[in-house]
Amino acid sequence: MAQAPVAQAPAENPYDTAVAQFNAVAERIGVDEGLREVLRHCKREFTVNFPVQMDDGSIRVFTGYRVHHNEARGPVKGGLRYAPYVSIDEVRALAMWMTWKCAVAGLPYGGAKGGVVVDPRALSIRELERLTRRFTAEIVMLIGPDEDVPAPDMGTDAQIMAWIMDTYSMMHGHSTPAVVTGKPVPIGGSSGRYEATGRGVMFITQEACRESGRTLEGATVAVQGFGNVGSVAAKLLAENGAKIVAISDARGGIYNERGVGDIGAMMERAPARGFLPDVPGSTRITNEELLEMPVDILIPAAIEGQIHAGNADRVRAKMVIEAANGPTTLEGDRIMEGNGVYVVPDIVANSGGVIVSYFEWVQDLQSFFWEEDEVNQRLERIIKKSFREVASLRNGGGMTLRESAYTLAVQRVVEATRVRGIFP
Ligand code: NAD
Repeated sequence: MAQAPVAQAPAENPYDTAVAQFNAVAERIGVDEGLREVLRHCKREFTVNFPVQMDDGSIRVFTGYRVHHNEARGPVKGGLRYAPYVSIDEVRALAMWMTWKCAVAGLPYGGAKGGVVVDPRALSIRELERLTRRFTAEIVMLIGPDEDVPAPDMGTDAQIMAWIMDTYSMMHGHSTPAVVTGKPVPIGGSSGRYEATGRGVMFITQEACRESGRTLEGATVAVQGFGNVGSVAAKLLAENGAKIVAISDARGGIYNERGVGDIGAMMERAPARGFLPDVPGSTRITNEELLEMPVDILIPAAIEGQIHAGNADRVRAKMVIEAANGPTTLEGDRIMEGNGVYVVPDIVANSGGVIVSYFEWVQDLQSFFWEEDEVNQRLERIIKKSFREVASLRNGGGMTLRESAYTLAVQRVVEATRVRGIFP
């Protein structure tokens, strides 16, 4: 079971950040005002308050959201988050970021996101199953292989995707694996999906090093977060020659200038996904200290809003690879840009997850499954191509990588919206 963060809500409203990022790009590339208005809104926002019977017989009401930002390029796609601080604005921002992320990777999807306000660690497994099945029933009219395809995010995992797939299938009278991605392999999941986001982070780090004339071999790396994304990224980066000197979970982190040790073994000894095991010989550090370590590469892989006006000036990493969604606030970004930090934005850096989710959906629709090698090779091809497109647009236009990624994404979505026309 994925661990929901024990941390509080991000300090800055993520939707304000997402809209401001979009407005800046729309202004730069001259999107007309009507289309701007379309794209800065989420097309469909659904809030549901639903009851769940707890193990002791009591009834509790939970709040859940599913938001579709834009579907000009295809069915919408996006994760489902279980966390105590989930809010409609957070879900809106994440849905908008999914639109850009799918567009920049060239996937035939629009953006969506969902969330339930719950600490999943506080529920028993049966309560979690009943909550998931009831929430699925409440949003069943929104989801489907041609409409909206959820996936795991913080606090959710393959088991939760299996319950969603089963509930949807029961309600439709036939098995529908393509309704969610990130499922277990025996029911239509894709080989390589669990590692996909972290593997994509590794491929992007390789490309970013190549593009900026650095070398990954021997580079020192600090990773914030030891969940799906952070742990896999750290393990694969270490296998490719980097030295992981600091890593953390929601409670804090560890540091060792010689390297924190064998990440694969730490993943096996982790008390639960998302939590570090005891690592003798390392120094305990706080998450704040981790973000300010003098490393070559910093990888925030936890939650939003971690690099902000209050600490961005103290970021000493030469390169930041945004593995989490929205880890940098607008002001944090401006400060790092001024300090010459090379930042690869989230919509590029963590797109490996949605790219392999796309492969899973394609495999489910065709009932024809690929070997893991094939999945990894196709992922490498698509994510590196996407990085190169973003980097080459940046080099031609004097932009940051974030600006060029948004420019490419917004141009693609604007083009799809324009060519489809406004119905009726
Ligand atoms: P996860 O639940 O598996 O792990 C989250 C990790 O962050 C855990 O180690 C947790 O202890 C830690 N954490 C939580 N709050 C923290 C805090 N305040 N400070 C430091 N660490 C904290 O989640 P995940 O799936 O690895 O997702 C991590 C990030 O990556 C999220 O932003 C998510 O939206 C993004 N992302 C995930 C995927 C995916 O495929 N899982 C894909 C794209 C983006």
